[in-house]
Amino acid sequence: MKTWYQKLAARLGRRSTTAPQSPPRIGVILSAGGSRGVYAHTGFLLALEQMGIPISAAAGCSAGAVVGGIAASGTDLKVWADAICRVKREEFWTPDPVRHVIWSMARNRGIGYTGLSGTAAGMDFFRRNLTAQTFEDCRYPLYIMAINLDRAEKVVFSHGELAPRMMASAAIPVLYKPVNIDGSYYSDGALVELAPVDAICCNHGLDALIVHQVGQHFGRKGDMSEVVRQPWSLLEIINRLLFHQRPWYLSNEELGFKYCSCGCGAVVVVLEPELPELPWPHTKGGARVLEVARQRTEVLLRPHLDALLTDPRQRLPLPPTDLQMQRSRGAGRCATGQ
Ligand SMILES: [Zn+2]
Repeated sequence: MKTWYQKLAARLGRRSTTAPQSPPRIGVILSAGGSRGVYAHTGFLLALEQMGIPISAAAGCSAGAVVGGIAASGTDLKVWADAICRVKREEFWTPDPVRHVIWSMARNRGIGYTGLSGTAAGMDFFRRNLTAQTFEDCRYPLYIMAINLDRAEKVVFSHGELAPRMMASAAIPVLYKPVNIDGSYYSDGALVELAPVDAICCNHGLDALIVHQVGQHFGRKGDMSEVVRQPWSLLEIINRLLFHQRPWYLSNEELGFKYCSCGCGAVVVVLEPELPELPWPHTKGGARVLEVARQRTEVLLRPHLDALLTDPRQRLPLPPTDLQMQRSRGAGRCATGQ
């Protein structure tokens, strides 16, 4: 039978300010988000670095795979930020000449024609900006999501050369040709999932998982008739198709807290910041998106920094429904934690 102080300790346990034995293990998930996402994720990671938040594992999709790969490889984020603010369009977008498209479609009935732009320039840009070229040489475990077109299923890469896998994850169908890796074709993973949260949550004994979600918001859902009069309206259609998904962890707030749905006890911290628009495909305005994302991350996370860096499982605020789920499922670390 429990004594009164054991009962009191159990009741107060969740609010205990005692730090865990070892430093918290924090994972980062970077969502898909188009060109804007590349700048936004860079600003987000710069803010984490400036606040001294260490990363134990990371996963990304599309724009998140690009920035996640660069950061995990050990590249200085300020150098990368400078590179993407100066990048020229031909370093990531090399559409076929119009006569080639017409020839392929009209004369060749589209045989073998798989996308408007090649991916060699993008891959080359990544290779030049990566410090390590393989997953195995990254500073922490990294996972990149794409869709395998041969089997029509989601894949999560964690081994091999980074650049082709980053490019595969970001190769938006129709705009980019799929990337061939070891004989299979791959395209943008955002088609199946915006952010591969399950890739690391229960594989690395994490205490907290910070999700940076930067998909477009569609507050103006009925405005498509206006959109079709804008330049690049085709891209807006693709955008809407990709970002119609609302994953389980999102709320309607810029900052939300949940427990991992598997019951491992890790806290999922979700940032869905309000960011400026960045019309595709130009890079003008990228620096502003980057800076706003950096500032929003700092503003949203700074009040919880102490909790995050000491004992996120016990000290971060969580909704009552999540607390109940946590109690019913137990709060042990993932058995598969590495
Ligand atoms: Zn979990």
